Amino acid sequence: MSKFWQEIKNLFRPKLIVQDIHQIDFDKLKSQGITALILDIDDTLIPRRVNDVSPQVFEWVATRKEEGFNLCLTSNSRHPLRVKFIGETLNVPAMHLGFKPLPFAFWKSLRILNAKPENAVMIGDQLFMDILGANLVNIYSIFVKHLTPETFLPRQWMRMAEEWALKRF
Ligand SMILES: [Mg+2]
Repeated sequence: MSKFWQEIKNLFRPKLIVQDIHQIDFDKLKSQGITALILDIDDTLIPRRVNDVSPQVFEWVATRKEEGFNLCLTSNSRHPLRVKFIGETLNVPAMHLGFKPLPFAFWKSLRILNAKPENAVMIGDQLFMDILGANLVNIYSIFVKHLTPETFLPRQWMRMAEEWALKRF
């Protein structure tokens, strides 16, 4: 295979695939020089249609802070109030309308976190937004399984395309 296609494939390949945020080994990430966590909100941190933060997620965030990580919520959500509320609840900077996979939200997140790409990870549930976007700017990408089953047809197609890409790439 040509080098070009290999590069394209690599853009769609998560560096790590886990079931959910609780399965990630943060000691290991820390030992690799990671100091900053860029987090997707919907279906990564909390289910898409839920506006509350569960105690488990609250504790997960508190533990990451205790471990010394800087966190930032970077969402494509069109709902500013929801994103703001979740950010304030967790006391973490939060942005909506990130337009991932475009690089702007990632650059902005790095600025907020005062981190270089090599010191950051992106954790998200969407291959074509979170993972592709992180890979494009050389941020370590962690893919989690989405928390809500898809019922809306276009989203089901998107998930099928994700599965196809994950198998192929
Ligand atoms: Mg998401």
